[in-house]
Amino acid sequence: MAYEKIWADNPKLNTVEKLKLEQDGLKIFEEIPYYAEHGFQSIPREKWDLFKWAGLYLQKPKEDGYFMMRVVIPSGIVTYEQVVTLAQIAKDFGRGLYDITTRQCVQFHWITIENIPEILRRLDEVGMTTAGACGDITRNIVGNPLAGIDPNELFDTRPIIKEVYEFFRFNEDYSNLPRKYKMSISASINNASNSEINCVAFVPAIKEIDGEKVYGFHVKVGGGLSTVPMLAQKLDIFVPQERTKDVAEGITRIFRDYGNREKRHRNRLKFLVADWGVEKFKEKLIDLVGPLPESGEDVQGEWNASYFYGVHKQKQEGLNYVGINVPIGRISPDDVLELARVSKKYGNGEIRHCNTQNIVIPNIPDENLEEMLKEPIFEKYPYNPKNFLGYSVSCTGNELCNLALVETKGLMRKIAEYLDETITLDVPVRIHMVGCPNSCGQRPLADIGLQGILMKNKNKEMVEAFEIYVGGTLNNGGKFNEKLKGKIEAGLLADVVKELLLYFKETKNAGEPFFDY
Ligand code: SF4
Repeated sequence: MAYEKIWADNPKLNTVEKLKLEQDGLKIFEEIPYYAEHGFQSIPREKWDLFKWAGLYLQKPKEDGYFMMRVVIPSGIVTYEQVVTLAQIAKDFGRGLYDITTRQCVQFHWITIENIPEILRRLDEVGMTTAGACGDITRNIVGNPLAGIDPNELFDTRPIIKEVYEFFRFNEDYSNLPRKYKMSISASINNASNSEINCVAFVPAIKEIDGEKVYGFHVKVGGGLSTVPMLAQKLDIFVPQERTKDVAEGITRIFRDYGNREKRHRNRLKFLVADWGVEKFKEKLIDLVGPLPESGEDVQGEWNASYFYGVHKQKQEGLNYVGINVPIGRISPDDVLELARVSKKYGNGEIRHCNTQNIVIPNIPDENLEEMLKEPIFEKYPYNPKNFLGYSVSCTGNELCNLALVETKGLMRKIAEYLDETITLDVPVRIHMVGCPNSCGQRPLADIGLQGILMKNKNKEMVEAFEIYVGGTLNNGGKFNEKLKGKIEAGLLADVVKELLLYFKETKNAGEPFFDY
């Protein structure tokens, strides 16, 4: 690619960069049929990393040849045909695991190379792909799970997300970015997509132009979690809806051409924004995309943290959506099929995946609601969940993730259930557990964040333990949670968190949230 000349001669390029210069990541799709025919052993070790561009990571231990596969779901929204396909894949090839991620994707596990062509064929048949789910590329575009039905959105973002998604999908001009690159597009006034933790976020705004009120976006850049969490900063621009794709492309081009390609731990967009500052970033963007109006009026209400439990009116007269809890984001394919059946019988069959690893069933007419809510599936996946299990989030952890230091999903569920049995509170408390500092479970946003580490106990044995963080929020511009002193062995964690919550209960006023910022 011509643009690669910008950095290709740099003698300090890291090894992943050198690999990407030899072969574009997306080309791995063309090689998959050969490897599927010849088996896992036919895949050269140096190509393992390139499978990320097809949404595939090797599970641990890598040598066993089982993949995690992530499917891209822009704004978390799938049709009936798509969700049935996803569930059937999990059933046929993924040992019955259907995991919802904190970026509205679905993950399968235990996928073998032999099965990948058939899975990709099934996905393609319903207009889905795994391209862009992993790797140094534009990842799944997160958005408001209620896009198009939300009484609290400025406008429907679905067509805009579709345009941006289709532009970047399989686009080899933007498939060699310095690192993963995360985008959010949402017009929810309740910040349903957690905008500030994205590399680039389009957030709702209004600007008076030539005497007319125009609905569009403000843009924030440079957010991200991982080992050095940063909140995205606002650029002084207003983007009319029809220019979203151009601005998204301009920002991506800046990252592609000026992002750090030497140190992998310094090459997210957030570091470039921190180095340049937003003024210089804005100037460069205007150079690339042409003039844009200065920013207008922000349209942001209280942060809903992407929770939608219960039955709610849509903006369409006579229609409703129902938000339900999927504990810790893990659900069996049979239960997904049952939810799809229920959604189809009483509504239009759509399912929407939330950043909180939960599900929304939309488009239920008033007259169908009562009958639908009697369906037994809602006993297992309730629309009025308990305070702790309903507000707990967990990453994959060492059951299946290569980078994990500790087990997470099972422990998080156990702790949440224990807290629900032993503490009653008048407000929910959001608890997020992660198995390492990469924070796929978005630990910095949580009321209580639990981050796994390994430490030596009194007997000098290496044991699983956790650091505790408190006070994360995205209200009022956002603030990440802060670490408390000490480390807690995994076996003691439930009781320590319980003590913390009992102290909160004793000292709080009625209705006071865990962290009020
Ligand atoms: Fe794996 Fe760490 Fe991400 Fe958890 S946070 S899924 S342990 S990389």
